[in-house]
Amino acid sequence: MLGAVVVGVGTAGAVRIRDMLTPPAGNAAEKLTVQGFISRRKLDAHQDVKQISAEEAVSREDIHAAFICTENDSHEDFVRMFLQAGKHVCVEYPMALSYQAAVQLWDLAQKKGVVLHEEHIELLTEDYKQLKKEVEGKTLLEGSLHFAGGALKPGFGFLAFSGIARLSWLADLFGELSVSAATFEEDAEQGYSKMTAQLLTSDSKPLTWIEERQAGLPRTKKINFVFDGFTLTQIPPAPRGTVGLFMQDLIHFSAKLSGQVSTEELDRERVRILHCLGLAQKIQELCKVK
Ligand code: NAD
Repeated sequence: MLGAVVVGVGTAGAVRIRDMLTPPAGNAAEKLTVQGFISRRKLDAHQDVKQISAEEAVSREDIHAAFICTENDSHEDFVRMFLQAGKHVCVEYPMALSYQAAVQLWDLAQKKGVVLHEEHIELLTEDYKQLKKEVEGKTLLEGSLHFAGGALKPGFGFLAFSGIARLSWLADLFGELSVSAATFEEDAEQGYSKMTAQLLTSDSKPLTWIEERQAGLPRTKKINFVFDGFTLTQIPPAPRGTVGLFMQDLIHFSAKLSGQVSTEELDRERVRILHCLGLAQKIQELCKVK
């Protein structure tokens, strides 16, 4: 059995605890037992799991893994702290708000011989799996992905990082990308922000990625992918899967802990994640946002 601690008990952290308490029978996730959670607030218990301090979590020998579920701007420090202590880490995306920090964290995980896993539930949705099937084998000519949503809570970082799930879609669908231009508009009074990034595929086909945020803006994702002889203007609807998205991610992380994921797959994931974080950083630099 592997003991785990959950850091941050907001929406994601609460789901992590619930999932570890109720793993589906017969898979690697059954090996994880939640030993405690860490919160800045003084809480007695959460789903009957006890609050513990960060110092206790890093020093306890029955805690082998940490789930980092805080706001994005504290991921890097928590990930580093647990890796330093020789614990495996599952971090909600993005693992850091800079490319260099992510590279350092990955090097540290390798040095310590532990698993560093970044959650990407957006790649596990049935809608996305269907979209991927539709795109497979087609030759892209040009495309766009426009995400809109409510105001971002503080601590989630610049739009290129907070919206890395959309960038992961594009990189997973169309392969290696580069950034040719990026702009950022903001109306602080209206709480409005918009990032527009111009990307290029490896065969120089243009892709536009837009992230738009304002309080009350309905959450929408619009696509327009033009292929040779075919245009996709809607994400194909697909029925929800039977296993929750965070549970699927937990099973994947547990499979890594049990050595059930091939080195090739681990490498592919690491390359994609670092590629996306590198693109996000380039976009942020072009938008001249600190
Ligand atoms: P949230 O605001 O609901 O939860 C964050 C929690 O972390 C809060 O309870 C906060 O008090 C706690 N926290 C912050 N700093 C802390 C610290 N130093 N020590 C202990 N606790 C601390 O946010 P969320 O929606 O759960 O998102 C958390 C992470 O999960 C983000 O990285 C987000 O990108 C990712 N994520 C969330 C979802 C989702 O559906 N909510 C989906 C995918 C990824």
